[in-house]
Amino acid sequence: MSEIKCIVAGPRGKMGSEALRMIEKDEQLSLSACIDRKFDGENVKDLDGLPNLNAPVFTDAELCLQEVEADVLIDLTTPEFGYKHTKLALKYNVRPVVGTTGFTEEQLGELRSLSEEKQLGTVIAPNFAVGAVLMMQFSKWAAKHFPDVEIIEKHHDQKLDAPSGTAVKTAQLIQEERKAHKQGHEYEEETIEGARGADYDGMRIHSLRLPGLVAHQEVVFGSLGETLTIKHDSHHRESFMSGVKLAATQVMELDTLVYGLEHLLD
Ligand code: NAP
Repeated sequence: MSEIKCIVAGPRGKMGSEALRMIEKDEQLSLSACIDRKFDGENVKDLDGLPNLNAPVFTDAELCLQEVEADVLIDLTTPEFGYKHTKLALKYNVRPVVGTTGFTEEQLGELRSLSEEKQLGTVIAPNFAVGAVLMMQFSKWAAKHFPDVEIIEKHHDQKLDAPSGTAVKTAQLIQEERKAHKQGHEYEEETIEGARGADYDGMRIHSLRLPGLVAHQEVVFGSLGETLTIKHDSHHRESFMSGVKLAATQVMELDTLVYGLEHLLD
């Protein structure tokens, strides 16, 4: 079991700090550096609320990747910077493991091409919780039999992107089984704009943002005389860390981009 040296981008964030706590306890992963918007030149162990890990902090992501020896960049930041960091990591032969959500299809396509060009593994997973991945797979299976479906995703009110990456990924998986069609009444009208949620290939996605929530999703299927609800709740961000660890180890064996944790679970 060889050591995997990691850079974590976004170490003070809710997910990034959880990733540091996971690395602190892990026998295989080690922390080489962090990329943060603040605290350039300081050490992780001296920052309030972060684990006692001896690793330098860089605000300049490119300088970090040039100066630090690392195998994997774990990005848990924002869509704008996550995308930049992922491109930079590939440029410097560091394998990206990206939990940041909100990349466009175009950005994902570009990162896939870059990853293939460099023959360097990349893992991008909109949800690292194993239960959430199963919820998505079960939803895809159910869509074979229940083509009418709406997705309700609920997150904390600090989340930047809507709908969530998990909701979009769920809709994509359902789309593979479901014939595109508009749902609801033919003459349905919204008296308040947005009341019916986002339209993805005729199915609707509803995003709730409230304090007190972490990450939750219900996929509700309706048919004659019955409904089926597939539901997943992440009550704590620890729920994502076994997936981050799995991605950080498996990315070392990959030479292309993998989108979605389900491809690693199989
Ligand atoms: P968060 O608490 O807001 O953390 C984001 C962190 O990124 C903040 O500390 C922020 O710093 C930092 N940041 C922003 N720009 C940066 C830059 N240029 N360089 C370095 N750090 C930068 O958000 P979160 O809840 O941890 O979520 C982070 C990302 O993970 C989001 O995209 C979220 O949707 C996603 N997420 C993914 C999963 C999954 O399973 N894949 C699960 C939950 C969340 P400041 O504090 O200075 O702004």
